Amino acid sequence: MKAEIFTIFPDLVASWCGASLLGKAWRSGTIEIGVHDLRAGADDPHRSVDDSPFGGGAGMVLAPGPVFAAVEAAAPVRPLFLLGPGGVRFDQSMARELAASPGFSLLCGRYEGVDQRVADHLVDGEISIGDYVLAGGEVAAMVVLETVARLVPGVMGNLASGEEESFTEGLLEYPQYTRPSLFREWGVPDVLLSGDHGRVGRWRRAAAIARTLERRPDLISSRGGLSEEERALLAEMGFDPVTCRGYGPDRPDRR
Ligand code: SAH
Repeated sequence: MKAEIFTIFPDLVASWCGASLLGKAWRSGTIEIGVHDLRAGADDPHRSVDDSPFGGGAGMVLAPGPVFAAVEAAAPVRPLFLLGPGGVRFDQSMARELAASPGFSLLCGRYEGVDQRVADHLVDGEISIGDYVLAGGEVAAMVVLETVARLVPGVMGNLASGEEESFTEGLLEYPQYTRPSLFREWGVPDVLLSGDHGRVGRWRRAAAIARTLERRPDLISSRGGLSEEERALLAEMGFDPVTCRGYGPDRPDRR
């Protein structure tokens, strides 16, 4: 998979991409990353990329000239997405689609935003990472890239670890525990120490359903409520389907 990023802060983006598992995947060639400086498209001695808005008002706008020039010179892998609060909301299913594709590019805005002609005539779509306003698209691009990259086979150490996690099945993930089994006065659910993999699997599924019911009932509704089988599983594993209690004797995830 190939990802290309257009930004006025290429050093920042490249250094972030070079760290951790993403950096390892980049160096090993599992993922190809290209970072492009939007200022390369500027044609004045100050390499300026912004200008004041027509119609007046505060701040500056990223001008179309340098953005078109930088993108056209690089001819990046498409689709090219502009990051912005008005875009389609990024989520795990969009991440899965992008991870299964040959690649995509991201264009980071700055200042008060980007000249509308970039959105209308240069990019293929717009992505928002949430209903809040960042100072620039770089952090949003990193959110998108990291989320997608960890779904690409070979990027994460353990291939299976992406399969059961939050949102994979429209559920949040079950609570996780590691050694010691007794930390201060807090234990872990007995079933996890039982060595009975079938029972562990059923407990995890029940815990995921219960946790989702409690914290994100909207996710349960959008998958059509609980099935009879799921209700039975909650009861079998000792979860109350109304209060969602039963993460273990003392609900260690909440202490
Ligand atoms: N004035 C604009 C916000 C500009 S913020 C407005 O009200 O919509 C500057 C840049 O930060 C944007 O061009 C965009 O690239 C990035 N950005 C800000 N919030 C974002 C979000 N929620 N998701 C993705 N990118 C965002």
